[in-house]
Amino acid sequence: MTTRNVIVIGSGPAGLTAALYAARGNLQPLVIEGLEAGGQLMLTTLVENWPGHRDGIMGPDLMAEMRAQAERFGSEFVHGHVASVDLRKAPFRVKTAEAEYEARALIIATGASARMLGLPGERGLVGHGLSTCATCDGYFFRGQEIAVVGGGDSAMEEALFLTKFASKVTVVHRRATLRASKIMRDKALANPKIVWAWNSEVEAIRDFEKGEVTGLVLRDNVTGEVRELGVTGVFVAIGHTPNTKVFRGQIDMDAAGYIVTHDGAKTSVPGVFACGDVQDHIYRQAVTAAGSGCMAAIDAEHYLEGVPEYHVEKVEVDFQPIQPPPTTISSS
Ligand code: NAP
Repeated sequence: MTTRNVIVIGSGPAGLTAALYAARGNLQPLVIEGLEAGGQLMLTTLVENWPGHRDGIMGPDLMAEMRAQAERFGSEFVHGHVASVDLRKAPFRVKTAEAEYEARALIIATGASARMLGLPGERGLVGHGLSTCATCDGYFFRGQEIAVVGGGDSAMEEALFLTKFASKVTVVHRRATLRASKIMRDKALANPKIVWAWNSEVEAIRDFEKGEVTGLVLRDNVTGEVRELGVTGVFVAIGHTPNTKVFRGQIDMDAAGYIVTHDGAKTSVPGVFACGDVQDHIYRQAVTAAGSGCMAAIDAEHYLEGVPEYHVEKVEVDFQPIQPPPTTISSS
């Protein structure tokens, strides 16, 4: 088995930017693309907040461009889903169902998956009225009546943001109290454009046969009443799950399972770097993911050059590593 300089796991904006920089640093990176090659932007339509495209660019087109650019400078791509890793010592070992690889430095860019409701036809409606990102897609719903599902900070943030465009935003929450912090709660409750569907569960999204969102079927879990809510868009904001299952127990993570980075893209394991949504539950933007991918590649380059501060045995960080709860969505 040849030992690679750098393996990048993941091929969203973070992974592809890391690959581009590592390739331009003459490190001939290998990118293991993951099951959902291209990441979350492959599920988006028009991306209007990627700098440099004043009229926007379709998510899949942006990812194809980024991949081609990384390839042009010598990145190699393999399909596959990482099944296990061994981070105990360098070179690190990475196994997929098809092959085993070894790398002197590893860049983890496996992203996070938005949790979905698990309803029939739901995935097919993503980008066709169903979204998990108000910042990305809110603009398409000017003057329309839409819904946000969830009762946490993300749902409040999305609902508040969406009131800039939509004529009415119904927040559908399965309980009668919000999980969101007081400040977000108060802001949302005071907003006249937001209405509330308490104790409500989404039983179905209409109309997956038509391929567009026309409404929701809601069931009141206290009274049992079922009703239809006519909306042209639905934003699912019930949390994200970082795709870190294969790294558990080998690298420091926070309580929610996000990889902890410090001083750039360094992790608790010297030689292993992380970038993008797998280590960021706050910004979660393509452009911030790309920026952190650049940092990871530069850090990997310094590590491989033998810069001493990249080779300290154990990095002290001010948190207690906690095993995350079992994930509810498959990792990629
Ligand atoms: P979260 O706090 O875990 O909230 C998820 C919400 O979705 C909860 O209200 C939950 O209902 C609901 N939910 C979960 N699964 C569901 C399902 N299958 N069907 C219907 N509803 C479901 O997630 P989050 O809002 O994404 O926040 C994640 C973290 O980021 C939090 O620590 C949050 O404070 C932070 N955050 C902060 C900000 C900010 O400060 N500006 C913004 C966004 C996120 P229950 O309440 O019934 O469990």
